Amino acid sequence: MFCPFCRYPDSRVIDSRTSDDGLSIRRRRQCPDCGRRFSTNETASLSVIKRNGVVEPFSREKIVSGVRKACQGRPVTDTDLAVLAQKVEEAIRATGAAQIEANDIGLSILPPLKELDEVAYLRFASVYQAFDSLEDFESAITLLRTDHDTRVDAPTQDL
Ligand SMILES: [Zn+2]
Repeated sequence: MFCPFCRYPDSRVIDSRTSDDGLSIRRRRQCPDCGRRFSTNETASLSVIKRNGVVEPFSREKIVSGVRKACQGRPVTDTDLAVLAQKVEEAIRATGAAQIEANDIGLSILPPLKELDEVAYLRFASVYQAFDSLEDFESAITLLRTDHDTRVDAPTQDL
């Protein structure tokens, strides 16, 4: 890649290390022309296959805008949404997949959204999973309740 200082069209890698999560590589580079050093961060590209077959790069912004609607009126901040989008990206990358169907992204959004806000989660799930009856809501809420019970019961399991 070009040197960001003098635009020399080449650079030498002087150090290379994998990030703790193993999902990216940071390279320290030196320009052979001006001698200055800079770093690059390399991650595998992640593409999204849309329903119409078009492939586009994964975008955290799209996750945020997709979830924001479900969070209207809820105590969810922009930072919460940014963290959620990061979790979604990490979950998808952790599968090792280089491409993901747009429809499957919803599956990766549901768990962190449930942790963040259960009302927003129900709204998002109702659209994503195409709830079309009260029973669908009831079973989703029952699952949430079971979740709560499991969490409360966990420390007292031996009693
Ligand atoms: Zn240079």
